[in-house]
Amino acid sequence: MRLNIQTISLIKIYRFFLIFSLIFLAACSSDDNVFTVPSDEVEESYEVHFIDIGQGDAIYVSTPEKNLLVDGGMRNTGVVEYLLELDVEHIDYVIGTHPHADHIGGLIGVFHNFTVGEVLDPGVVHTTNTFNEYMATIDLYNIPFTVGRKGMNYDLSENAYFELLHPVSPSSNHLNNASIVARVHLGEIRVLLTGDLEKEGEADVLKHPDLLGSHVLKVGHHGSNTSSTMPFLLAVDPEVSVIQLGEGNPYGHPHGPVLQRLSEIGTAVYRNDLHGSILLETDGETYTISFR
Ligand SMILES: [Zn+2]
Repeated sequence: MRLNIQTISLIKIYRFFLIFSLIFLAACSSDDNVFTVPSDEVEESYEVHFIDIGQGDAIYVSTPEKNLLVDGGMRNTGVVEYLLELDVEHIDYVIGTHPHADHIGGLIGVFHNFTVGEVLDPGVVHTTNTFNEYMATIDLYNIPFTVGRKGMNYDLSENAYFELLHPVSPSSNHLNNASIVARVHLGEIRVLLTGDLEKEGEADVLKHPDLLGSHVLKVGHHGSNTSSTMPFLLAVDPEVSVIQLGEGNPYGHPHGPVLQRLSEIGTAVYRNDLHGSILLETDGETYTISFR
């Protein structure tokens, strides 16, 4: 992981310097020289990768301590290779937002290739081979499995955490509206990840509009007109919106009315089909967007 290796190296250099300074300070304590020992605070840096895996979702969040993967795209579409390139070996939290293959299919390979601390899943069932294999692979590696519900909070590092805003009581009858919605806090920067939540689910989370405001929105359901209602977009009020989708997908994503509504709220729009993988880097106060 490019930045994390740099960050780790910086921390090592910083610690060496701090210890050296303390020894030097002790050696000089009989003199009148005044030394200032720097505080032990190291600036945190965070990354959010909206990985281009074609039609589907895959979002990787790294912090100085823990990391999070939200969905893995379809099976064998590149999420494993992408994470290996970042030198990822362990993933603390994996969220499978809902049981559709363009979200959990790629997680099967993730479970085979990385150690995983915990899987969060809405706890609804699907009848596909992909879903059965996803569950069987979690079982195979004895990965702790938690049914994710609104109100849960998980620490990622000293100044970063994520909270679940949805679902409360999902039904397998509408898998998209069972999606786990997570708001990730990286210092002051907030990123809202909505899975394939549709308008009924958006109406649910709009019961608490104060929880929605975010700098960055992962647009629901690949830019489908089933999602991204105007009241929801106005409550999130994102500066940046990311649409995860594949070029020439058979669903016609993103749908024109969604692009129109995003344009009306004045958000910048980035898309995996046009920009490739999209990387947000932040120190917790300001952020940059680049393409990989
Ligand atoms: Zn989907």
